[in-house]
Amino acid sequence: MTDLSMHNVKRHQLMTDLEYVRCPLCGADDARLLSIQKGIYRIVKCRLCRLIYLNPRPTQQAIAALYDEAYYKDPKVGYPDYLKTHDRYRDVIAEIFKERLQAVSQLKKTGRILEVGCAYGLLLDFFRKNGWETYGVEISKSSATYAQEELGLNVQNMPLQDADLPEKFFDVILMLDVIEHLPDHKIVFDAVRRVMKDDGILVAQVPWELSHWEKALLAIASGKKPGTIEPDAVPAHLLFFTPRTLRLMLEKHGLDVFKRGSGNYGRIRERVFPPSVDSRYLLGRVLKTIYYRLGLRRALRWMAPRLKQGSGIILYAKKRL
Ligand SMILES: [Zn+2]
Repeated sequence: MTDLSMHNVKRHQLMTDLEYVRCPLCGADDARLLSIQKGIYRIVKCRLCRLIYLNPRPTQQAIAALYDEAYYKDPKVGYPDYLKTHDRYRDVIAEIFKERLQAVSQLKKTGRILEVGCAYGLLLDFFRKNGWETYGVEISKSSATYAQEELGLNVQNMPLQDADLPEKFFDVILMLDVIEHLPDHKIVFDAVRRVMKDDGILVAQVPWELSHWEKALLAIASGKKPGTIEPDAVPAHLLFFTPRTLRLMLEKHGLDVFKRGSGNYGRIRERVFPPSVDSRYLLGRVLKTIYYRLGLRRALRWMAPRLKQGSGIILYAKKRL
């Protein structure tokens, strides 16, 4: 079977292997429909805790199939040409890595760091160059192999809960753009708590998608209701957090938030796939002109993270002892 037809089979499986779930945050079975994406994926909002999630969603088996090589090939789901893109935008990447290192170093000068979902290991490599003892876990075989063989990093190609890691070992654990992909949070956060030192820190970052101001603006400008436009990477993203629901998710699993940060999500991704505004609407045309061409967007994007309103939610948490 050729690569491409294999890929199509997998996409087809994803569309068919769906399971119905209760609210992943509060367990209720009382949600209202926000939108249907790609003609099949229902995005719903829990009436009790207000978590937004995909329901039904791909089964665990279908999700596992998603994170093989296809994840780094399909532009609609994952990150195609990951390494080439990183090379092309290395100035932006360098800036993002530096910001991350600075933010972490303010809380822990140095030590052992684990990245859950480390992809090709580029950020870990950067931390290692800055004196950190680095470890990673990554479920995608192709990217884990690159991290191990090309960068010589200590990366295990498996989910965190299956990895062979000592108890109370890490000063810092990074989960960057990972939590929104997880089908079972308890098993993963139990593992996080197990391998984290008692005074260790979890850095949890997720995209702020549907209810973020910029996304609401884009929706309105395209003649849609806020919260109804297509979020990033459906069906890879299973949950769509706000700062509040992410905090509740961490607290539910024994991780107490002590600091909130903010960043701009997908700075590279949006250069590769610029957001589209529907010009059929007057507001859409106005937005295109003022927002994109006259630089209002640049200004707001500079300001937003400083007001904790950036499109990346970052929470710092400690384990409840
Ligand atoms: Zn709920």
